[in-house]
Amino acid sequence: MAAQETAEHKYVYDFAEGNKDLKDLLGGKGANLAEMTNLGLPVPPGFTITTEACKAYLATGAEPAGLAEQIAAHLEALEREMGRSLGDPQDPLLVSVRSGAKFSMPGMMETVLNVGLNDRSVVGLSAQAGGNDRFAWDSYRRLIQMFGKTVCDVPGEEFEHALDDVKRAKGTTNDLDLDADDLRGLVDAYKKIFSKHTGREFPQEPREQLDLAIRAVFESWNAERAVIYRRQERIPADLGTAVNVVAMVFGNLGADSGTGVAFTRDPASGAQGIYGDYLANAQGEDVVAGIRNTVPLQELERIDKKSYDELLDYMARLEGHYKDLCDIEFTIERGKLWMLQTRVGKRTAAAAFVIAGQLVDEGLIDLDEALHRVNGAQLAQLMFPRFKLDHEFQPVAKGIGASPGAAVGKVVFTSARAVELAAEGESVILVRRETNPDDLNGMIAAKGILTSRGGKTSHAAVVARGMGKTCVSGADELDINIPQRKFTVAGQTVTEGDVVSIDGTTGKVYLGEVPVMPSEVVQYFEGTLDPEQTDDALVQAVHRIMTHADARRRLAVRTNADTGADAARARRFGAQGIGLCRTEHMFLGDRRELVERLILAATDAEREDALAALLPLQREDFIEIFREMDGLPVTVRLIDPPLHEFLPPLEQLAVNVAVAQERGEDVAKEEALLAAVRRMHEENPMLGLRGVRLGLVIPGLFAMQVRAIAEAAVAVTRSGGSACPEIMVPLVGAVQELETVRAEAERIIAEVVGDSGVEVLIGTMIEVPRAALTAGQIAEAAQFFSFGTNDLTQMGWGFSRDDVEGAFFWRYLELGIFGISPFESIDREGVGRLVRIAAEEGRAARPGLKLGVCGEHGGDPESVHFFHEVGLDYVSCSPFRVPVARLEAGRAAIETTGSDSR
Ligand code: PEP
Ligand code: MG
Repeated sequence: MAAQETAEHKYVYDFAEGNKDLKDLLGGKGANLAEMTNLGLPVPPGFTITTEACKAYLATGAEPAGLAEQIAAHLEALEREMGRSLGDPQDPLLVSVRSGAKFSMPGMMETVLNVGLNDRSVVGLSAQAGGNDRFAWDSYRRLIQMFGKTVCDVPGEEFEHALDDVKRAKGTTNDLDLDADDLRGLVDAYKKIFSKHTGREFPQEPREQLDLAIRAVFESWNAERAVIYRRQERIPADLGTAVNVVAMVFGNLGADSGTGVAFTRDPASGAQGIYGDYLANAQGEDVVAGIRNTVPLQELERIDKKSYDELLDYMARLEGHYKDLCDIEFTIERGKLWMLQTRVGKRTAAAAFVIAGQLVDEGLIDLDEALHRVNGAQLAQLMFPRFKLDHEFQPVAKGIGASPGAAVGKVVFTSARAVELAAEGESVILVRRETNPDDLNGMIAAKGILTSRGGKTSHAAVVARGMGKTCVSGADELDINIPQRKFTVAGQTVTEGDVVSIDGTTGKVYLGEVPVMPSEVVQYFEGTLDPEQTDDALVQAVHRIMTHADARRRLAVRTNADTGADAARARRFGAQGIGLCRTEHMFLGDRRELVERLILAATDAEREDALAALLPLQREDFIEIFREMDGLPVTVRLIDPPLHEFLPPLEQLAVNVAVAQERGEDVAKEEALLAAVRRMHEENPMLGLRGVRLGLVIPGLFAMQVRAIAEAAVAVTRSGGSACPEIMVPLVGAVQELETVRAEAERIIAEVVGDSGVEVLIGTMIEVPRAALTAGQIAEAAQFFSFGTNDLTQMGWGFSRDDVEGAFFWRYLELGIFGISPFESIDREGVGRLVRIAAEEGRAARPGLKLGVCGEHGGDPESVHFFHEVGLDYVSCSPFRVPVARLEAGRAAIETTGSDSR
């Protein structure tokens, strides 16, 4: 390498100097070109300018010191290797200048091909191509077009129009009908367009072309579309792009040349085979532009058997080397195969599981690595029902898959109409340009949401994901007219009441009703599809990887369930107990009247009566749940919500009373009720009389629940079962609260349990920041902690959990204040710190203290890794997320033991 590079920062790497692990520095494309070069594959020679050079340029607006000289040195080496020099009028070297960031950002940044052509070297290129003038002038006009557009912001359509004019004059629509003279004329026209817009001549100096093209690639990192894409894909904004300068090879030199893409297995299903497309006599950009139809890759065997065999050999080598599905771009120049790019290929969720399983079978990876290569988000996707698509259904638009699922329903354009039709039992799809908080009721009523604007962090997307509702956002082909209640797409008009089907995973929109089929993965978890009996490769792969995750994980996975049916389903899904049985819903329905009596009781006797009536009902609730969870722990949380939720709404009641009084009716009872509701009314019920506070204020309420739990446990145990209840006190902030509840509970338990052998634990939720900060004291009185991260997030941030996601989170996401809602994924630094402190101080005070989490985060993949790290014993989540938590707990375990072979 040139001597000056040792003294200064190294900004340029020859392909032979890099490798696949240098993606941060060389970008994905550069690192993989280097890897292929070192594997001895035929990669056109070239070099990579690092992301650090890009970052330095973007920070200062100028190329960093030394970069120009390093480029000169590497260019010289490239010229020597190729035996040609840039701009040589007799035998020119041409190069492509390509972007390549660490993460693939398809089509977001710039590429300039054929750099090095000018009025003189175009003649040399023709000679090089065996006197092919047409090819040389076509290459030159492509350079001016690409360079003009990407480097100098010349409007691309001006070049398109000029090309159309030439074709029209010639009476053709096909580029291939233009001859060398036509293209020479086009070069003149392009040059005029160039100078009209830039005020200068098209640069004839090749090094200037190269420098300007490199600069344009650097700058394209901050192009608007790239910024938006990064935000959507959560790619950090400060990575910068590398630039690859590569000797040009040509696929458009005649019938013995061509270009194509290939996958080492099917990226959609994971099936093994040869997948790809080939286009003869073409450059890569023609494939992307879809100008002519490609042929399946298998056809290449007939067209050019030698190149085909060679390609298959390289594909096998790459797969063996990367131990994964690779995608490849290649070009054949006059019968010589060149590899232009490879990377570990993107794949669908189903293919990820299938391929991981296959690679284990092939001995390329072990089961830990297979587990590492799939994730909970993919598994969650596979658990949604899917559209059954055959040829008759073609999408009419494609937006962003903002919240997964398959939804079918009648189109409505307003929130009010959504609510009306849903109340009549219709499935509706709410269609809006974009949604705002006023649409919330409509979004709740709808089966799915479809918008024409906004990305993955738009209001519609964020709120829909929070609700678990299917959403396609940013389907900009839809021309929506809200006042006229219609939209047009692909030449068709859809009016209110027409049926559409939207796929929240792929973002595709279909007219009419597409049949929906259940997920086979859910059938497997449900136990209705036996992995040993089926030939479904996906189910087999999921089974195998889940089994391994279970063997590896340290975290237990429980479920949040408060009915026997939910408990049973969760158990089939692999739940190892209940981490949160919320008892509030047990006070609704026809028991509401009893609760009203309890709240309104004027005397001790009236209150005790109401409690006595509730006791057997509660006991039955718990018996059902203990039976379903036989032998497994069940954490029952004492009642939590504010009492006014059990009473009629204040305004409505006040109106009813006033109207009745006006009519002279006897309203004594209603007036008493109204007075009670007024008494109970709170401005901030989430911060008011709920949880343990309620238990301390209403005598006998918690005692009744404790008795019901203990009696149910004894009943189940005496009938031959095994009940393992854990009583959990909500919203504790001070140890004294817990001590008071516990003293009474222990008395009752001792009385009920007797010699039955039932053991009842008493613990607390940690969901008030003060509890987390005094966990050492609280642990003295608690046999377990369960983190209520919903409330801990609410109170840690001071965000009302019922309001903020719909109100302003979309803006916080847009501004990058959050990467993701803190209600969805645990805020490690803030709320997570409270968890960590409480876990450490709790265990210091009571070694071996059992720790779990039962907030929504317990089923979030990212958060599961955090809870593993903090050392919790279990996570608890909704039944449907149990498999996701099992998988992620397994992944978390292998990641911390460092068995990752990559
Ligand atoms: C919590 O706050 O995290 C929790 C599990 O309790 P709830 O959601 O019922 O308030
Ligand atoms: Mg809570």
